This record gives sequence, C-alpha cells and structure tokens, in this order.
Amino acid sequence: MERNTDTNSSRRQTSGDTYAGYRLRTYRLLRKALVGFILVSIVNVAFSYFFYTPKMYAINRDNRELEIKYDILRDRISAAQRKISEIKHRDNYVYRSLFAVDTISVDGVYAPYPDSKYEELEGDLYTSVMVPAWRSLDDMARRLYLESVSLDELQQLSRNKEQLSTAIPAVWPIDRTRLKSIDHFGWRTHPLYRRTIFHKGIDLGCDVGNVVFATGDAVVESIDTRSSRVGYGRQILLDHGFGYKTRYAHLNKVLVKPGDKVVRGQVIGESGRSGGVTGPHLHYEVLRAGQPVNPINYFDRNMTPEEYIDLMENIRQANLEKFDTANAE
Ligand SMILES: [Zn+2]
Repeated sequence: MERNTDTNSSRRQTSGDTYAGYRLRTYRLLRKALVGFILVSIVNVAFSYFFYTPKMYAINRDNRELEIKYDILRDRISAAQRKISEIKHRDNYVYRSLFAVDTISVDGVYAPYPDSKYEELEGDLYTSVMVPAWRSLDDMARRLYLESVSLDELQQLSRNKEQLSTAIPAVWPIDRTRLKSIDHFGWRTHPLYRRTIFHKGIDLGCDVGNVVFATGDAVVESIDTRSSRVGYGRQILLDHGFGYKTRYAHLNKVLVKPGDKVVRGQVIGESGRSGGVTGPHLHYEVLRAGQPVNPINYFDRNMTPEEYIDLMENIRQANLEKFDTANAE
C-alpha cells in the first residue's frame, strides 16, 4: 500500500515537473519569438533606411507619376490661359472695334482672391503645387466671366447694329468743297496762347456762314449761344448714344435746342468765329466714352486707304502752309 502511495506521490511529482517544464519551454519559446521579432524589426528598419522596400518603390513610382500628371495639368492650364488671352485680344481688337466700342472693364475683376481662400490647402505635402494651380484656375474663371459680360454686350450691340451705324459720327460736319484748311488733332502749339496744348478736335477752316451738319443721328445734349472772346464760343454738343458725343464750336448760329433729335446730315448750325479764335473755322470734336478721339478716323467710313493717305497729306500740307485763318481752340 505504501509503495502504492509512493508510486502515487512520485507520479504526482512527475506530473508537477512536467507542467513546470512545459511552462518554462513556452516562456523560452515566447522569449525567442520576441527577441527574433525585435531583431527582425531592427534589421527591417535598418534595411529600409538604406534600401527601398518594394512598397516604397511603389510609392515612389506613384509620386513620380503624380508629378508628371501635375506637370501635364499645369501645361494644360497655361494653354487654356493663352487661349483666353487670344479670345480677349480678338474681342478687344476685332469684335469690339467692329462696333467701335471701348474695351470693357468690370471693377475688381482682376483683383486676386485673398490668401485666406487657400488656407485649407496649406500645410500639405502638395501645398506648393496645389495653391498655384488653384490660383490659376480662379484667375481663368474671372477672365472668362469678363469675356462673357463682354460678349453679352456685343450681342446687344449687334441687335442694334443698324441704329449704331447711323448714330456713329461718320461724315464731314461741313461741305468739304468749302474747306480751306485743317488743323490737326493732338498736341500742337496753340495759335493764340503760344503754348503746347492738347487739341481735342480738328479745326476745319471755312468762311462764316457755312452750314454745319450733324455727323450722326443724335439728341442735342447742350448748346451755348453766348459769344465770348475765349473758349468754344457758340457751340452744340450732340449725344449719339453708344458712348459717342460730338462737339461743334465757334459757331455763328445755333439752329437746334437741347433735347432735339437730329439725324445724320441735318443742318444744326452755321460756322463762325465766336469764342477764342484767330479766324473763322469749325472746331469739331468726337468724344468716345468721354475721351476725345481723332475725328479724322471717323470721316467717310468707306474711305479707301489711298484716300485716307491723300487726306492726311493734305492736312500736313495745310499745316505747313499755315493759313492766315490760323485757328484757335
Ligand atoms: Zn480747335
């Protein structure tokens, strides 16, 4: 029995030993695995520090592709910007000049957006490429808006084209056969004040009493019937609409009153020598959007280039000769 008990206890002992051994082995195994894992991690980090892993190769490749795609996008944006500039140029120099209207301007349309608009794009790896791209696109959007406004206006003008063609000053304000001299538009030495002054119109030398014509359909904006010794003297200002006005000064007689509607070729006054003059002449001005422009460019819209050159030569000759009807104002 005792033996049996011994045997039993020895068995119990053996099973206790086995359990401890099992735990120890498990512990050692775990320790090995942990050390192994740490070692592998260290090697991996060291390796990836000096060498690219396949994943990093893939990321790098993606990055390069992104950069290439971004370059293509940037080229496309530049190309679109060039196209818009071309449209704008055509708009200003072809379409708008067809209708003889000024270039359009919308207040603040070229003012860039504040930096705060792009704050959300800050602090990113791609900030340096994204922000300029956004700015370019915003700039394009603004310019396209301006062009759309301009085209709307041109559409309106083309509807009124017939009205426009009769309104724009386009004939001589006096009978050309009565013309004795022309003094040109622009900077000149003033015949009366002997100073270099900008001449806002042209002086058509002719006798007192020649009829003066409205050069386009218009409404009489204002008249001045006083005959002073300085300035424009008796004068008429016509409003043709579409941003055009014409002035006829140094008149002998004014035959219209403010608010009158006149048509092209209608007699509105008589040439004279009122105001600051050295001799009888008609001072004729064309104003576009409030600015004086050279009236010569508005005479005879069907004039051939040869006729135009002839006319300019005549003006030059006339100025060289300096008629005794040297004109003022
Ligand atoms: Zn003048």
